[in-house]
Amino acid sequence: MNKTKTRQPAAPIDGVPGRYWHKLDDGRIQCDLCPRFCKLSEGQRGLCFVRARVDDEIVLTTYGRSSGFCVDPIEKKPLDHFLPGTPVLSFGTAGCNLTCTFCQNWDISKAKEFDRLQDQASPEAIVRAARETGCRSVAFTYNDPVIFLEYAVDVAAACREAGIKTVAVTAGYITPEPREEFFSWMDAANIDLKGFTEDFYKKLCTGQLKPVLETIEYLKHETDVWFEITTLLIPGHNDSDEEITTLSEWIMEKLGPDVPLHFSAFHPDWRMRDVPPTPPAALARARDIAMKTSLHYVYTGNVRDPAGQSTWCHGCGARLIGRDWYELTDWNLTPEGCCASCGENCAGVFEAQPGTWGQRRLPIRITAGKNRPAA
Ligand code: SF4
Repeated sequence: MNKTKTRQPAAPIDGVPGRYWHKLDDGRIQCDLCPRFCKLSEGQRGLCFVRARVDDEIVLTTYGRSSGFCVDPIEKKPLDHFLPGTPVLSFGTAGCNLTCTFCQNWDISKAKEFDRLQDQASPEAIVRAARETGCRSVAFTYNDPVIFLEYAVDVAAACREAGIKTVAVTAGYITPEPREEFFSWMDAANIDLKGFTEDFYKKLCTGQLKPVLETIEYLKHETDVWFEITTLLIPGHNDSDEEITTLSEWIMEKLGPDVPLHFSAFHPDWRMRDVPPTPPAALARARDIAMKTSLHYVYTGNVRDPAGQSTWCHGCGARLIGRDWYELTDWNLTPEGCCASCGENCAGVFEAQPGTWGQRRLPIRITAGKNRPAA
């Protein structure tokens, strides 16, 4: 009996042409989208798994394919100074260009099985869904939109034409040229600053801190994108007083006091299940340290903390926006976005009245016909 195993032919890779790559002298193609600079032979995929070399070019294999759509409160991104109280149509695809051992979305970011991705999420269908659900914005989230840049840009362009804002939730791990294109289509962003040492990025994410800081400085000094920063506090890994102080002082020095900073709670997941969840006291301590460096807006996240999640006037100390989880409980801003008590400006993108979406989370299916709530 012949015991030789027959090898199944690899499934053909489908995709749309990708941008930002060049040919190397040795015949490989280098992807220039993110600082990993994957060098690919024919049929190989990059580390992110969704960009591959096919017929002498790089293709994006997840164009138009989503891991699911959900209408979320904008506060959940988290964005506390961008159209508060409004609903945002949120979606992601699959894959990621960082390998964080503590990933809190690993079922999506590490997905290599694309069968469950929906196939019909054209930019026009997404705009239609946003309109039908009353969303003021569309968010690229759940996994990092940098790796599906071509799809994100097409969706963002369709949104802009329709008067719908766009939000990128990203680690900012992208090279300068695509960074310019990507963020030129975004109205707001939340940048996931995972820690503040090269050692942390190298050991836990197999990445680098420097390009992320460059992205953050680029956003502040060369774009009009409203952005906020989030750091997931992981006990024993990035939560020392010294690291939080250095991070906060860097924000103060390079960006100024008005960029909101969120410290959110870690829960054991993916390949970091031996570390306990972040105690609420550690979030409060981090917030205190950051406030002492004179940052105006510092928040706690992933825990119930109405004081730590409210927006306070840096002029007179009044509560400007009260929050309980993602629900707005108080609104003391003038129609111009200033403190109703003392007139001090509050940084952000505000309208005369806040939205009333509350903390609902509504999964929806996007289909060729009418969009409908997910079963
Ligand atoms: S985007 Fe993907 S393929 Fe391109 S360099 Fe980064 S990880 Fe590699």
